[in-house]
Order: sequence, then C-alpha cells, then structure tokens
Amino acid sequence: MLPVLLSFGSNLGDRDATLSGAWQILGQTPAVETVRLSSLYETEPIGGPAGQPMFLNATGIIRTTMPPTELLETLQKIEADFGRVRSERWGARTLDIDILLYGCQIVTLQKLTIPHIEMLNRQFVLVPASDIAGDWVHPITKKTIREHCVPL
Ligand code: ADP
Ligand code: MG
Repeated sequence: MLPVLLSFGSNLGDRDATLSGAWQILGQTPAVETVRLSSLYETEPIGGPAGQPMFLNATGIIRTTMPPTELLETLQKIEADFGRVRSERWGARTLDIDILLYGCQIVTLQKLTIPHIEMLNRQFVLVPASDIAGDWVHPITKKTIREHCVPL
C-alpha cells in the first residue's frame, strides 16, 4: 500500500455532497483505503470561461495497491458517476479528482504526470494539502508541502 495525495474540486450542483460522496465511494473501492480528508475550502475559479461559480476544494490521503494508471482510471469512473461531462477545458464541473503525489514516485506518461504539473502553482491545492500532508516531500523539489505553501 502506497500513500497517495489526491485533490478534489467541484463547482456545480451540491458540491458538499459530491465531495463527501466521492470520498465515501473511494473508501468502498477495492485496493483503496481512505486515510484523511482535509477541510473543504471555497475558492474563486481560476482560468476557464468567465462567470463560473465558486469552487469547493479539498485534498485527501488514500493508500492503495493500484498502480498509478489504474488509479487514474478508477478516479475518472468516479468523476463520471457524479455526472461529470468533459467539455470545456477548465470549465465548470461537478467533480474533478487529480493525483497530486503518489508516494515519492515520478510518473511522466502522456495521460498522467505525477507530481501533478500545476500543484505548486495552485494555492487552492497547497492550502488543503498542507492541512493533512504538510511533511510530505515533493519528489522533484525535495521541499515539503508546508514549505511550498507560502501565504500570499
Ligand atoms: P483538469 O484536472 O486539468 O482540470 P481534467 O480533469 O479534464 O482537467 O484532466 C485532463 C487530463 O489530465 C486527464 O484526462 C488525465 O489524463 C490528465 N492528467 C495528467 N496528469 C494527471 C494527474 N496527475 N491527475 C489527474 N489527471 C491527470
Ligand atoms: Mg482533473
């Protein structure tokens, strides 16, 4: 079982129910164990079309024996279960789940980059991540999440 840090975001529908529902489904998924979910943070949408509703963001630590690509497929199925339709890039979505860190592994595949390429630029990821994973070392920068999470 390796620890994995995930990010969750929702800005359509019942965002609260979606995030806690996704976390619950993950906990019932074979080969996955949920460890800890951060607080939920309401954040301004960044990028994408104008006039989007506010996001609710969180991060969570799970443990899994699934290899990274299989985990990505599992997460995409959960996104689809919550009615996510992939249309506009960075558009409004009922549920987005990204893999931020997978143990200390580095993955560079066309469909999957770990650590997540944007995680260090996104305060809406770093703030909830330092809640629960402040001591986790980013395998490329070798700095902890807490060190990356500088208050603006
Ligand atoms: P975004 O998360 O950037 O808003 P999507 O959820 O639609 O957009 O993801 C687009 C693609 O990003 C996915 O189809 C997936 O293959 C790819 N991807 C690359 N790295 C990751 C990662 N670490 N976690 C989740 N998806 C990733
Ligand atoms: Mg995504």
